Amino acid sequence: MGLFERKSSSPPAFPPSPSSVINAPAAPQGSPQPESQVNSGGPKAMVISFANQKGGVAKTTTTLNLAVAFAEKGNRVLCVDLDPQSNLTMSQGIDPDSLDVSMYDVLVNRISIREVIRKREIDVACSSIDLAGAEIAMSTQIGRERSLQKAFAPILEDYDFICIDTPPSLGLITINALTASNKVIVPVQCEYLSMRGLIQLQNTVAMVKEDLNPDLEIEGILPTLVDTRTVHAKEAIEILEENFGDRVFASRITKTVRFAEAPVKGMSVLKYDPDGKAAFAYRRLAEEVLGHGSR
Ligand code: ADP
Ligand code: MG
Repeated sequence: MGLFERKSSSPPAFPPSPSSVINAPAAPQGSPQPESQVNSGGPKAMVISFANQKGGVAKTTTTLNLAVAFAEKGNRVLCVDLDPQSNLTMSQGIDPDSLDVSMYDVLVNRISIREVIRKREIDVACSSIDLAGAEIAMSTQIGRERSLQKAFAPILEDYDFICIDTPPSLGLITINALTASNKVIVPVQCEYLSMRGLIQLQNTVAMVKEDLNPDLEIEGILPTLVDTRTVHAKEAIEILEENFGDRVFASRITKTVRFAEAPVKGMSVLKYDPDGKAAFAYRRLAEEVLGHGSR
């Protein structure tokens, strides 16, 4: 059985309600502990990576807008920008060139992640162009796949959700994101060619699961940039559903110019056009992820 397939008897991939996330029992304590388990007591954040090695499939858009939809429901949310292009950082109105430190310093120089968090609609752990050199700088470090997981340990109790935007590659940065995550959401542009890359991503998730993070699960595949006027988009969704069954979210994100307009204003679409179709689509996705919607 492939990773994307879901056994009908298997439990839901996500806890059924936000309260069950929040009230999940803490990991058992004991000593000595590895750094990643040093926290005690309270409930820990659900960490979700948004990954697809193809660019332009709405990873950044989905990370930000789903994160804001979680926040609207009263959750404490952190977005972590791991793309050197810094689109998520910029789309919250932050100039990456103005930052003294960024996720590069968290991953490479092991500074506290709190030093790179800015408070906007949600909290943002900011990226800068430096991150383009992070993979080479980390390549000789011991434990290089776990740098992000270690950086999260002290803040897991500060948030209900940590949403990680990844770069368009399956390199060490994305491996760090997957290793630090409980779930992966895969935005897919509904074109046949962009769906072929899903197999490669599936293999990477399987490798991370086997060697680094056995708990990692694919939460769902999200059809994005859906052009409802074309037969091609309809067929592409059908192919996706034939191959990946109920791993495909019921939510669809259709094409609208609002997604291009909102980042220019430094806002999510939920803030820019709160009553629009685009905002509604991400709120519905949030319900689905939280287990309230139908799939
Ligand atoms: P990625 O992070 O995968 O590279 P982005 O989230 O940056 O993708 O999206 C790529 C481009 O598509 C951006 O210009 C974004 O504004 C636009 N976009 C994203 N979602 C939509 C949508 N539903 N409708 C129209 N444009 C969109
Ligand atoms: Mg992006």
